[in-house]
Amino acid sequence: MAMNVKPVPTLDDEVNEIRLATAEIVNREILPNEGKLWGWMSDGSSTTPKEVRDEAKELRLQIQGKVKAARLWAPHLPREFGGMGLSFMQHAYMNEVLSYSPGAASLFGVVAPNSGNQKILVKYGTPEQHEKWLKPLTDGTMQSGFSMTEPHNPGSDPTSLTTTAVLDGDEWVINGRKWFTSNGFASDFYIVMCRTADPKDTTGRHDKMTQIIVPRNTPGVNIIRGVPVWGRASSHCEIVYDNVRVPKENQLGRTGTGHQAAQDRLGAGRVYHCMNSIGSMWRAFDLMIERLMTRQVHGGEKLEDKQFMQGFVAESYMDIQSARLMTIHCAEKMEAGADPRVDISAIKIYVPAAYHRVVDRAIQVWGAAGVSGDLPLAGMYQGARTLRLADGPDEVHKILIAKLVLRRYHSGENWDFGN
Ligand SMILES: Cc1cc2nc3c(=O)[nH]c(=O)nc-3n(C[C@H](O)[C@H](O)[C@H](O)COP(=O)(O)OP(=O)(O)OC[C@H]3O[C@@H](n4cnc5c(N)ncnc54)[C@H](O)[C@@H]3O)c2cc1C
Repeated sequence: MAMNVKPVPTLDDEVNEIRLATAEIVNREILPNEGKLWGWMSDGSSTTPKEVRDEAKELRLQIQGKVKAARLWAPHLPREFGGMGLSFMQHAYMNEVLSYSPGAASLFGVVAPNSGNQKILVKYGTPEQHEKWLKPLTDGTMQSGFSMTEPHNPGSDPTSLTTTAVLDGDEWVINGRKWFTSNGFASDFYIVMCRTADPKDTTGRHDKMTQIIVPRNTPGVNIIRGVPVWGRASSHCEIVYDNVRVPKENQLGRTGTGHQAAQDRLGAGRVYHCMNSIGSMWRAFDLMIERLMTRQVHGGEKLEDKQFMQGFVAESYMDIQSARLMTIHCAEKMEAGADPRVDISAIKIYVPAAYHRVVDRAIQVWGAAGVSGDLPLAGMYQGARTLRLADGPDEVHKILIAKLVLRRYHSGENWDFGN
């Protein structure tokens, strides 16, 4: 089933054109080729013949060429760095279309964690760092990872991180252990979150961290393993940084701005991630309906005639619409310069949970096929579950919502749901 994207009357022509052009590539080039593009990954085996992998690679390059020709490459980057130069809202509205097919974002030049690193490099990088790291990352000749979370400290509290960087002449000397550094094996460099303040200095909580670029081949960078995830090998790596020395000019931004840079990565990123989830929910919904309309059960009736199943349709519709409208409301608030903190936390919690419910129902409708590698639903289910703890676990965001809401009431003002 193709994605049905028509112009949205409230959006301007430019963003409607981008959405239609994106949908055309998704429908024509990507959906019919999903099995060839990624299918070999879903059997979890490492014995896939080389020619199958080569064919997939060749196909990906062809589609990327068509994406570039349609000027839809790298929606997250400004024009001067090879991207589309989209506004925040345009990018958000494009994401829900391109994420209809899992993995399609990479064919449009958006690959986490490279995309987040690119944005940090755009904002905090010097012209020399742009030339040395950002350019090759954007033209695909380099890969990168973001190395923040540590096994022995709670990632939900970034002030607890203990990896240190100490200045020794013109070099930073880094020591610490990180894990879940995604894309770790393929990376040419990592952006490493380091504590650069004196550990005994107890003033201030968020100005102690600095992000530092560490080339993977630097002596002392030891990849311990890819941490298995959902029962499968992964490239989310555990890495020990053992007296790793890099030049001082590898730091990103001023010393002490690491926490702010991490927040920058997450703020707008959460809206984009939620729009991605909505595109995936859209796909799961279409797949569910396709099966309801074709599968006959006892007595020859179709699944669509059964009330339990009709309940799934209604509940999934409401989940998708509410998630989408909450996300767009949050994005509009950010665009207008209003304080979006409550809304960002709300979508971070609500959207992955809605995504989880929608995919769960689609899997139920498809029965055994739903959990097989023949459909994208099993991968979506794992992705939706993972989102509830990544990007800040749900509980931390709930605490933040309550704190900000109560603060307003304590100051004598009620909540205004219209704004
Ligand atoms: C697939 C995947 C990819 C990832 N990629 C990267 C990456 O590229 N780079 C990177 O640096 N990290 C990455 N991460 C790590 C991720 O960012 C962290 O897992 C996340 O920040 C949570 O940190 P933690 O695992 O240490 O959980 P913890 O902080 O230990 O939290 C565990 C649980 O405790 C509860 N909790 C925490 N705080 C509170 C509180 N205040 N009140 C009540 N309950 C609370 C929550 O339920 C939470 O889920 C990745 C993780 C996954 C799963």
